[in-house]
Amino acid sequence: MTPALMKLENISFAYETLPVLKDISLSTREQDFIGLIGPNGSGKSTLLKIMGAILKPDSGSIQFKESSLPKINKKLFAQSVSWIPQDHPMVFPFKVSEIVLMGRHPYLSPLSFESEEDFEISQRAMETTMTSQFADRYFNEISGGEKQRVMIASALAQDPEMMLLDEPTAALDLKYQIQILSILKNLNARHKMTLVMAMHDLNLASSFCNRLILLDEGQIVRDGTPEQVLKKDILEQVYGIEVDLGSHDGSIRVHPVISR
Ligand code: ADP
Ligand code: MG
Repeated sequence: MTPALMKLENISFAYETLPVLKDISLSTREQDFIGLIGPNGSGKSTLLKIMGAILKPDSGSIQFKESSLPKINKKLFAQSVSWIPQDHPMVFPFKVSEIVLMGRHPYLSPLSFESEEDFEISQRAMETTMTSQFADRYFNEISGGEKQRVMIASALAQDPEMMLLDEPTAALDLKYQIQILSILKNLNARHKMTLVMAMHDLNLASSFCNRLILLDEGQIVRDGTPEQVLKKDILEQVYGIEVDLGSHDGSIRVHPVISR
């Protein structure tokens, strides 16, 4: 078994007094492509923020490459783990190429300018995400699917070992959903990137991820392969609807039963 890249043990977290994560333990293995699934409000975004060190847990421990999180070198962590939030309010009019170059930030020393290498890495990140063609356009003037690719390019310029993505395909049409997921799959397979992605579409998660973690009310209900996690009784209990299961191209399909 490959070693754990990040290991969470008994993590709990509350916003003020509202407990949101309860005793979460999980290890990501190198090259995992994890789909974090579960109903609205089950704690997916909060868990991603804890993993990205955006939020600090109230109790429990986190290790990254066998260093515990409070002690780990902050610069190294910022280079190794990138978090892509669900929405990216961009107040200032930045060009796409500038946003991608910002991904190099954890590598710059204070007051230093980007090097030739930083520009080259950003260029490659734009090629991988098919964003080079609008490098000179303003971020707030491109479409939702293009914005999401730019955010992935910026994360990629950071050259991380692990990416945490919060619903990267939300609000995109089917073609763009598949495009984003194919880019991620490629990063996972070819570049050996560990991915943890919050996601609502169980069928796409089942097709693209090797592992699913199902959250319900801040607890992990199931963690395993799509076949192990997408079970009729568990889904009906967690989502509170009736479902039928099928399969397509070797992966599980979940169909909600709609009474007419
Ligand atoms: P998910 O991403 O699965 O929809 P979240 O992690 O966003 O779930 O939210 C889990 C719970 O925490 C919800 O009840 C939500 O209302 C609450 N919550 C999320 N963010 C905050 C916040 N900044 N302050 C207070 N409560 C929050
Ligand atoms: Mg969320």
